[in-house]
Amino acid sequence: MTQPDRKIDIKDLLKEKLAEGFAPLGAERFRATQVLDWVYRRCADDFSGMNNLPAGLRRTLDEKFYISDLEVVRKLESKDGVKKFLFQLEDGEKIESVFIPSKSTSTVCLSSQVGCKFACKFCASGKTGFVRNLRPAEIINQALFFRKNKYHVTNIVLMGMGEPLDNYDNVLKAVRILNAPYGLGVGQRKITISTCGLIPGIKKLAKEKLQIELSVSIHSPNDKTRSILMGVNNKYPLKDLMEACRGYAKQTNRQITFEYVLIKGLNDSKKDAQDLAGLVKGMLAKVNLIAFNPVDGLDYVPPGLDCTRMFKSALDRKGIVSTMRNPRGADIEAACGQLRLRH
Ligand code: SAH
Repeated sequence: MTQPDRKIDIKDLLKEKLAEGFAPLGAERFRATQVLDWVYRRCADDFSGMNNLPAGLRRTLDEKFYISDLEVVRKLESKDGVKKFLFQLEDGEKIESVFIPSKSTSTVCLSSQVGCKFACKFCASGKTGFVRNLRPAEIINQALFFRKNKYHVTNIVLMGMGEPLDNYDNVLKAVRILNAPYGLGVGQRKITISTCGLIPGIKKLAKEKLQIELSVSIHSPNDKTRSILMGVNNKYPLKDLMEACRGYAKQTNRQITFEYVLIKGLNDSKKDAQDLAGLVKGMLAKVNLIAFNPVDGLDYVPPGLDCTRMFKSALDRKGIVSTMRNPRGADIEAACGQLRLRH
């Protein structure tokens, strides 16, 4: 990994692009398949050990490309099996990823940006502002870290730090590589992109012909409260957002999950549940209820279990499918951005 600034990070490239670049180097296209097998399946960290490649090609690759990696800065382990990692990038910036095992699946939660521009009031990620987008390789490396360390990964969610649709091209490239058989081989339906509601991104995503899951963070069914919680609502208010979501569901025939973080006294009333049901009604969608995960320096608190149950049954009564996500890893500050905030 020498002089990375002058070289191309090989994990930033889709296979087709890499193979194209191999022709001028005098290498056959199939060599790209071999190289990527080393990179993604065998988790190689340099070219010198790729012993099925001619030595000359290995040297040429080493002059043009490098294989990036993440450095673990901290690891926290929750009593419930959730593991959280703070990684350092080449430029010293830090990002977080979380490993969430359950009975039948293991999900990894990846970051898409360093910091976040959107500064939702209840979220730790935007508190220190936006730093930069992650490159595709930096997104992939988070998932690859788990593969390298023998964690079994079945699902990937882009719900860590950052707003995936604000880093659209890099995120989509990463998703394609995470999904590709030569990459991580994770099924599209097992990859979720979560957005705070960026309408242009939702519309663009609808045209990608992907089978990935889309989550939309909604958090309130009325513009007044939603604008308080999420500044982005001033730019993309609920009416327009819901129209874009309906368009997305129709175009892709895929169900949208609306994420709803319940915060005591703010968005947890029966009326909120009924209004939410009204917004979502008739659409290919479900609601995922999450109790607010306390963040340092914020006065918000999660509602009690009774309130959460009441909210869910109000949705049930209106015929809206919902799930209640148990807060996981609360003892290790697993809400996105919290660990970096502490550092
Ligand atoms: N920017 C994207 C993805 C990152 S946040 C988005 O907004 O969807 C991923 C999810 O975690 C979002 O639903 C977000 O609202 C939620 N979240 C953020 N902070 C939280 C907290 N303290 N407790 C519970 N959920 C939180």
